[in-house]
Amino acid sequence: MTGPISRVVLVTGGSRGIGRATAELLAGRGHKVAVNYVSNATAAADAVAAIDAAGGTAIAVQGDVGEEAAVERIVDEVQDQLGQIEILVNNAGITRDDLIMRMKPEAWDDVLQTNLRSVYLCSRAVMRSMLRARWGRIISVSSVAGVYGNAGQANYSAAKAGIIGFTKGLAKEVGSRGITVNAVAPGFIATDMTAALGEDTTSAAVERITLGRLGTAREVATAVGYLASDDASYITGQTVVVDGGLAL
Ligand code: NAP
Repeated sequence: MTGPISRVVLVTGGSRGIGRATAELLAGRGHKVAVNYVSNATAAADAVAAIDAAGGTAIAVQGDVGEEAAVERIVDEVQDQLGQIEILVNNAGITRDDLIMRMKPEAWDDVLQTNLRSVYLCSRAVMRSMLRARWGRIISVSSVAGVYGNAGQANYSAAKAGIIGFTKGLAKEVGSRGITVNAVAPGFIATDMTAALGEDTTSAAVERITLGRLGTAREVATAVGYLASDDASYITGQTVVVDGGLAL
């Protein structure tokens, strides 16, 4: 009997929240995980230390996933230190909320660059080695905002809907080569991103959630982990909603 295969994983924005939970979950399965971050080196070091302490293998890799040169460097660093990337989790994301009447072009551009351009850049950067290996998993973190839209978040909703379209298009491009491409669409998850919303917004959200509470980062990570696994080999081009029944 052979054990589960150890694969090389890149989690963008793996230093905090959903990305960190995903990095820990995949490291716990014996995969070698690169934890990408943009500015919070301490959080990235903490995530790597937690994985090390649990007996896993992880490295931290700094870089802005919205920038082409940085993405090429991130992928090169991961390949040099861990090997060819077999599982890519496009998780890094930001919000710059405003009503459209007031939204500055910078808020539009920043969100589209960090949340959507990054998904294209990172997926392209790992594609050659995945095609050669005839195996690959790309999982991108969208949002219920991308499925249903959210007032005050038209930029974010557009980027997250873009991820869903990108996922379907790329899935068709590479399906015959053993690569699956899927998305996960979380609802309200307790992370730094939602902590910034304040108590009133959070309790109004909880009232709309069928399960009556926010989700945990781990509850999103388990969905990502499933799509990254061999068990999900016949699922591609899909978006798995993890929202506690918010949209019911
Ligand atoms: P978070 O706690 O704010 O963490 C964001 C992560 O992304 C951090 O690791 C951050 O790195 C990284 N990051 C931000 N900009 C980056 C860039 N340009 N390049 C590389 N890394 C970057 O966020 P979260 O709540 O875990 O969200 C993770 C993903 O889930 C996002 O795509 C978000 O849109 C999506 N999502 C979240 C929720 C929710 O309720 N929380 C719901 C739906 C979807 P630093 O530590 O260096 O800042």
